[in-house]
Amino acid sequence: MLKIYPKAKQINEIRNCFPSLAYSELAYLDNAASSQTVDSAIKAVSDYHYNYRANVHRGDFETSGIASEKYDLARQEVAKLINCEVTEIAFTSGTTHSLNIIADYLAGDRTVVITELEHHSNILPWMKHGYTAEKGNLVVVPASDHGDISIEDFTTAIKENPGSIVSFLTQSNLTGMNTPWQEMVRIAKDHDCEVIIDACQSIAHKQIDLQANNIDWMVFSGHKMYASTGSGVLFKRGGFPDMTGHALGGGTAEYVSFDEYQLFADYNSIEAGTPNIAGVHSLGAAAKWINEIGYKTIQENEAEFFNMLRDKGLFDIKGMKLIGPMGPRSVYSFIIEDCNPSDLAGFISFDKVCVRTGHMCAQPASRRYNKDNTGVFRVSSAPYNNESDCVKLVEGIWKAMDKIVSKTK
Ligand code: PMP
Repeated sequence: MLKIYPKAKQINEIRNCFPSLAYSELAYLDNAASSQTVDSAIKAVSDYHYNYRANVHRGDFETSGIASEKYDLARQEVAKLINCEVTEIAFTSGTTHSLNIIADYLAGDRTVVITELEHHSNILPWMKHGYTAEKGNLVVVPASDHGDISIEDFTTAIKENPGSIVSFLTQSNLTGMNTPWQEMVRIAKDHDCEVIIDACQSIAHKQIDLQANNIDWMVFSGHKMYASTGSGVLFKRGGFPDMTGHALGGGTAEYVSFDEYQLFADYNSIEAGTPNIAGVHSLGAAAKWINEIGYKTIQENEAEFFNMLRDKGLFDIKGMKLIGPMGPRSVYSFIIEDCNPSDLAGFISFDKVCVRTGHMCAQPASRRYNKDNTGVFRVSSAPYNNESDCVKLVEGIWKAMDKIVSKTK
């Protein structure tokens, strides 16, 4: 019987905002790696290059003024998205860049607490400064069998390490599970810790309100929230006065002579030199789009896509074991028995189905969940994924499984 999905129209309306998909046969299900770009964010890039291509905050002419105004507006849209002050936001090239800046600034005597689910971008910047589990200055909260973090394990680690630096993700790009980050923030703050949130995976799907959550630092990337690549955000509560001198050069100083200089005490020291102007314009447009569409719509669409995946039988395919409980989210990761996940992804790519396999730059977490070390098979959705994407995926997997299994017989 034909099933009617109440949100199908809403999904297709959103899909039409994404030119790369609106006219394409692609079943794009690799949104956790990079989303598609929303039309207003594409237009922001081309408008900049076509109409007001100039440096920002430097020129005395009209187009430089427009470029600067759009740059400042982007900061306002991002501030609105996460409910913080504009002075608390610095633009970077993305999450990895932001986390490196934080680690370079905070590394020292304090212990760092992370989780087993972290992306390499929240492991290596600390290790660069000599933090390791073996030495004991890098404490790793174990991941649960369900692909998330248990509050009990987290609380134990925090109680043993009060006053530490605590850095963790809101959603794992490997398991797809959301962490109980609000409670984790509360517990860490109750124990005088400095809290860093890697919101890279969740920012396109779920609201993080910085007035309601006492987070000290937060990072995310534009390319996973419908903007172009190469721009991202570093939030720091209270702004950046104590980070003056992080990088020196153009745009960072109020006064310079050959003997002394006076630096700006704000985000300019993070954004030294000419920034990624078009990328920031694009990020601003994408933030505006999310502010207008609303996280509620995004979540409704993603929940409907889960219904489609469930109804078409993705979770019943023999040999594919979902990490974590069944339920709507934006990322579904599977361990596959008797078949290499990357062979499977290769086969379905011929049917224009795009998924990701492997260790997802989270090798410790990947080793935790698949003992044979072939990595996971990850399907990651966005509010534009529709029934046709779902059917292509499930049929593609059936067809491929058939071929792969008969080939190996
Ligand atoms: N953290 C998480 C949880 C991620 O999923 C990613 C990207 N996969 C990163 C950090 C790194 O983001 P970027 O490559 O945009 O710097």
